Amino acid sequence: MKHKIKHFYYDASQAQSQAVVQFKSQTAKTHIASSVPKITHYREGKSALYLTQKQGAAFKPCASLNPEYVCCNVQVLDAVSNCPYDCSYCFLQNYLNNGTLQVTADVDAMIEEVRTKTARQPWRFFRIGTWELGDSLALEPLTGTSAQLIKAFAGMKNALLELRTKSDYVENLLDIDHQQRTVVSWTVNPQTIIKREEFRTASMAARLSAMEQIEKAGYLLALHFDPMLLFDDWAADYDALVKEIFSRISSQSVVWISIGSLRFNPEMKRTIEQNFPGSRITTPEMVAGPDGKMRYVKPKRVEMYQHLYQTIQACLPSDDKPFVYLCMERWDMWDKVLGYHPHSIGHLDYLMVRSLAQRFPGLVHQNPDLALYDNGDAF
Ligand code: SF4
Repeated sequence: MKHKIKHFYYDASQAQSQAVVQFKSQTAKTHIASSVPKITHYREGKSALYLTQKQGAAFKPCASLNPEYVCCNVQVLDAVSNCPYDCSYCFLQNYLNNGTLQVTADVDAMIEEVRTKTARQPWRFFRIGTWELGDSLALEPLTGTSAQLIKAFAGMKNALLELRTKSDYVENLLDIDHQQRTVVSWTVNPQTIIKREEFRTASMAARLSAMEQIEKAGYLLALHFDPMLLFDDWAADYDALVKEIFSRISSQSVVWISIGSLRFNPEMKRTIEQNFPGSRITTPEMVAGPDGKMRYVKPKRVEMYQHLYQTIQACLPSDDKPFVYLCMERWDMWDKVLGYHPHSIGHLDYLMVRSLAQRFPGLVHQNPDLALYDNGDAF
């Protein structure tokens, strides 16, 4: 593993958990700690891993959900906090109060919460991700918690797990009876960007090889071109990336593709420049959006998104396309790039489930009903 973890801790209550047993088999240096070691700086926190019990509610709506934007209404499961990787654009460098790497070892408690909450809306098909505060698979070789989640989701009726990663750690996932209830997704970028801005992550070649293995194991896949970054030759490099991906995996295994671009809170500009003095990501012209976050100016974003979207469309068969959506953009950007916009956040949720139901018969427990999904808050 490409990590710099030097200190390994676990909560005493989790001593018998599968995660701690696996963790102890991987390293002899583990210690019991009665509380999460406090490491303020996010980067120093990456050197200490704490396997914790579940703390409070772990299952909740994505924190980025904002009524100004066409959000997809994904739910998140707080299974990890902080990340052994070190991307220059990572929002965690300006977000975490405690930088210690944490993985929830108490998978049974998380699953119980998911079962209880998904049962309250039996008409709904939930998409649930574990990537909000870190990478879903980066610590998998040490803890095995994602494998446990995959096994539990295999028996769920109205929920789909999404594990999102920049790693190539798929080996212990390949033989699991997943029942196609897990989507393994990759955040992708041209190798130039991976090398320059996504430190310690797997190369694009390694991610592609992992995608092939995951597809062969029968999993559903997803792709996230997010954040797209501006750099010399961005158009040609994104073209080549899309073509390479679809020469290696079938679009028929891909459930959805998201597109988004660099965004960060204004105060993070200085943090990025301090933490990554060699990075140039803060130099292009940017403007503040309705959520206060800085983004590339709109005409540039339109150009980037249209270019990528058209390249993707040219690689897909006309009769079976993965669902494509924009992340954290307003309805007018959807019109410019995709030629339409969902009329509410609930409508987008519905469209994504409808696409799954149409493309993967038997996956969704019942045909989605727009009247139930639609929350009425039109854009
Ligand atoms: S992989 Fe994601 S969570 Fe990890 S450092 Fe990069 S942006 Fe942050």
